[in-house]
Amino acid sequence: MSRSRSSSSLPGAALPAAWLLALLWPATAAADCISLAGNPTQGGLLWGQVAPGSRVTLDGQALDVLADGTTLFGFSRDAAASAELVVRGAGECRQRLAVAAREYDIQRVEGVPEQTVSPSPEQLDRIAREQALVDAAKARRIVRPDILQATLGAFRWPAQGPISGVYGSQRIYNGEPRNPHFGVDVAVPTGTPVTAPAPGIVTLAEPDLFFSGGTVILDHGFGLSSSFLHLSAVSVAVDQEVRQGEVIGAVGATGRATGPHLDWRMSWRNARIDPQLLVPPMPAPEPGPAAAPVPAVPKP
Ligand SMILES: [Zn+2]
Repeated sequence: MSRSRSSSSLPGAALPAAWLLALLWPATAAADCISLAGNPTQGGLLWGQVAPGSRVTLDGQALDVLADGTTLFGFSRDAAASAELVVRGAGECRQRLAVAAREYDIQRVEGVPEQTVSPSPEQLDRIAREQALVDAAKARRIVRPDILQATLGAFRWPAQGPISGVYGSQRIYNGEPRNPHFGVDVAVPTGTPVTAPAPGIVTLAEPDLFFSGGTVILDHGFGLSSSFLHLSAVSVAVDQEVRQGEVIGAVGATGRATGPHLDWRMSWRNARIDPQLLVPPMPAPEPGPAAAPVPAVPKP
């Protein structure tokens, strides 16, 4: 039979069956620790279920475990190539996760107003005050299992249009290296509504920050949040609960921007997450005379 011919050609066929089992068993056992959804890559968010009451650590860092056993974690832009999950419940289970590396573009942005590249001492004071506001908003612990459950695996684009900037690019402004870009940029005209990609609680609603202009932070609970930058209008208030799809503001070009676009960023704890990994591919533009003109592609 063809089946026996093909199996006899396998290099492992000469080994006793017990040997094969020993070779295959460790990989099978390790995968049983916790089954995960999401992206095991730099900038990826993952979530899964453990037995309720279990304790879970990632490289020694304790993770949140909801009453139903849901846990989540994410990997930063430059996360190491592997991480260890430990689940302690009735027993102890260890699982090594491979974290896929990514390559990031280098993006040179010329012609940005010089003050936004090398701010004055007064502007540095303002930037520090605003950073404290953002840090305080992100440090809030929103314990809303219902919101997180409705969020994981259910993100929608907050605006639809051409993608003009991606997560992780190294930015060089007027020849000066600056922080990488952590958002996904959608180039749509000023005034385009920005809708909540998932439900959340508003933890920051500022009309005019130095770098990010009109800014909203929407917290999805348990350390997971979305930020929306360069808004021309902010239509929510701090502590407001927002449903998925609800309008939270309008696209603009405020702060360090060279043209109108939405910059959507995500964080889990201190790790910057790539929002684009969490949504379906950007839908193609609808044909027809009503289609909006494509705006000049903004860089920051
Ligand atoms: Zn951007």
